Amino acid sequence: MQDCIFCKIINKEIPAQIIYENDFVLAFKDISPVAPQHYLLIPKKHFVSLATVDAQYSQEILMAIQSMTQELQINDFRTVFNTGAAAGQTVFHVHAHIIAGRDLNWPPG
Ligand code: AMP
Ligand code: ZN
Repeated sequence: MQDCIFCKIINKEIPAQIIYENDFVLAFKDISPVAPQHYLLIPKKHFVSLATVDAQYSQEILMAIQSMTQELQINDFRTVFNTGAAAGQTVFHVHAHIIAGRDLNWPPG
């Protein structure tokens, strides 16, 4: 999709530090990390948010989070899908934040 920053990362039009990839998803380092490990995992097809992602990609995203964290040997991590501006979504291509490497507070702000 034109003017979507994450589609541009998928199309290699802008760089990213890619840490995991398969036919359906791509994961890369968040440019502004909130923890020692902060990755974003996105479907290679444009969906605006978790509210509109389809069943196939929902499954691919969750299974890829399993594979990715196993490969990186991350046992304890938080997965966040901000959905809608009021919930903190700033990039409107669905993405999972995978956050790890320190103790995390609950509830979030
Ligand atoms: P959200 O606020 O949930 O929509 O998350 C968007 C995330 O994308 C933020 O954590 C940003 O730091 C991150 N981000 C924005 N642009 C880039 C980029 N070019 N490369 C990596 N991460 C990015
Ligand atoms: Zn996109």
